[in-house]
Order: sequence, then C-alpha cells, then structure tokens
Amino acid sequence: MHASQETLEQKSFAQLRPLKISSEILATAVCLLVLVLANTSQALSPWLYGYCLVAGMACYLTYRARTTRQLWLTGMLLLCTCTACLGSLAIALGNPLLWFLPIGLVLSLPVSAMHDHPLHALSTGGAIWATLFYVVQPNFDRQLDLTLTLILITGSLLVATLVCTTFCRTRKDVFDLQRQLHGMAYKDALTGLPNRRAFMEQLGATLEQGSAALFFLMIDIDDFKKINDGFGHDVGDRVLVEVAKVLREHSLGHNFARLGGEEFAVAAQVADVSAAQALAGSLVEAVHSSQVYGLMVSISVGLAQHACEETLFSLMRRADLALYEAKSAGKNRHALAAS
Ligand code: GH3
Ligand code: MG
Ligand code: MG
Repeated sequence: MHASQETLEQKSFAQLRPLKISSEILATAVCLLVLVLANTSQALSPWLYGYCLVAGMACYLTYRARTTRQLWLTGMLLLCTCTACLGSLAIALGNPLLWFLPIGLVLSLPVSAMHDHPLHALSTGGAIWATLFYVVQPNFDRQLDLTLTLILITGSLLVATLVCTTFCRTRKDVFDLQRQLHGMAYKDALTGLPNRRAFMEQLGATLEQGSAALFFLMIDIDDFKKINDGFGHDVGDRVLVEVAKVLREHSLGHNFARLGGEEFAVAAQVADVSAAQALAGSLVEAVHSSQVYGLMVSISVGLAQHACEETLFSLMRRADLALYEAKSAGKNRHALAAS
C-alpha cells in the first residue's frame, strides 16, 4: 500500500503486531519454563500445563488478528492466562502472598506500551489484577498490607495508562510527520498537483502492468516567459495555478502532474490514437478558451504512443519532439510523434 493511503490504525497495527506476537510467545515460554523448574522440586498438577496450552492458543489468535482491537483482546486473553498460571503456581508452592505483587507488576507494566489506546492498557491491567485476586484470593493479615497493596496496584494502572498515552501520542506525531513529508515529496507546492516524482512512479507502475494502450502527453504553456516578463513573476505563478486547474478538470482519471516550470504531463490509457488526439485537442481548447486574468494563454501538446518494450526515456523524448513540432507549427495545438 502507498504510504499516503495508510491509516494510523493500519500503521499502528503493523508496528504492534510483531511486538505482540514475540512478547506473547516469550511470556508463554517463560510460564512453561517456570512450571518445569518448579516441577523438579515439587510435583505439580498436570492441569497447570493446560494454562500454557491456552496461552499458546492465544498466541495463535494474535498471529491471526487483523486489527489493533483484536490484538488487544487476544493479548488480554494471553495475559490473564499467564496470570492464572503463575498465581496457581504460587498457591501450589505455598507462598502466594510473596509472589502476588511481582506477578501482577511484571505482567501489567511492560505491555502497557504495546497498546493502541490508553483504555486498552488500563483494561488489560485491570483484567490482570482481577484475575490474580480471583485465582489467589489473598488473605492479608493486616489491613495496612491490603491498603498498601491496593495503592501499588492503582499506581501501576496509572503508570501503564500514562506510558500508553505517551507512546500513542508519539506514534500519532510520527504518523502525521510522515504524511506531511510524503505530501512535500510527492506534491507540487505551487499548484497542489502531483509532481514529477509521483508521476514517474505511477507511470513506471502502469508500464510494468502493461495492459491497455498508453499515451504520453507532454504539455507546455506557450510564450510563458512573456507573461512573466510583461506582468511579473507573481502573475506568472497565478497563471500556472489557473492553467493547472483547467488541465486537471480535463484530464480527470488519468495520471497527471506538473513536471516543473510551465510543463505538465498526462499519461492516458485510452482506446486508440484518435481518443488520445481528442484528449490532447480538448486540453488545448480548454486552456485557450479560458480567460486567465484576462490574458490569452495557450498550450502546445506533444503526443506519443507507448510502443511495446519502449523505455520511459524514449517515450518522453518522442513526446518532447512532437511538442517541438507543435511549437514550430505555430503553438496552441497538438502534434503526434512518429512511432
Ligand atoms: P515556448 O512557447 O517556446 O514554450 O516559450 P516559453 O516562454 O513558454 O518558454 P521558456 O522555456 O523560454 O520560458 C519558460 C519560463 O517559465 C521561464 C521561467 O522563468 C518560467 N518559470 C519556470 N517556473 C516558473 C514558476 O514556477 N513560476 C513562474 N512565474 N515562472 C516560471
Ligand atoms: Mg518549457
Ligand atoms: Mg513554454
């Protein structure tokens, strides 16, 4: 997909997906390793390994996810499963209170940056702590221990939300900047038309597909220097903008750009030579009949049909020669290049 068409959601998904898949596989592997190690010193219920199976399935769902929302849901499933696994292990080892906070913090904090929305981070953190409370059912001897634990949990949820907010904002800033840079790299600043780079890239792609007949129209404003010299550069600029508007209206649906200076180009995929000549004629006529600031402005067009296996360079050169012919024949007209 072209960078200019990608949405923030798609960009975030593309960034988060590999991060999520690798971290989830790692979390599942760590749970499995911890169970295997604990099993060497104390016989554990084989049911505990079932959690690793569910976590593996969650990893697969993350792999299949197609939106950031799906990534959030599958990630939550995985984290709650790992939490239940480690919480059950802590109970089996006989000291759940010792492991209560470390399990919750280790699982909720690092993943906070891997979300597309602060609410996703908050809800995932909440689900982790809720699962831990449900599985471990901690029994704090002193009220103070419970109070301090709850304060730490609240703090961890706030930190997770803040970290996520910061990462989301940074991602959006980078996205906006890339959009801006793309606009600058592919748009002509004066007329707002696609520029030479955009035109050439699209033309190259069209030639690679090589389907319909392709015609290249090289367009040049006649006696533009006189307009600049007679009325000033700023009027020249405004004439360029107006001519660009007229040409755009009449070349809708075709690859059209300002190549530079007072030169424009159209790459038209039309049925045959007469259709291409009709298009060139309509462009000449449209500019000639439009009064730009009361000035008589006209264009000349050189037309060339793309021959099989012909290079872009050769096609443009033939269109240029045809343009030269149109100029020599008196301007305000089009000429067809010899094939
Ligand atoms: P011809 O009919 O043979 O094409 O003659 P012309 O005067 O149009 O062609 P020439 O190449 O002699 O002059 C083109 C002029 O366009 C010269 C240059 O100063 C002017 N120009 C190029 N870019 C811009 C621009 O962005 N703004 C303005 N105002 N003038 C520009
Ligand atoms: Mg020129
Ligand atoms: Mg000119």
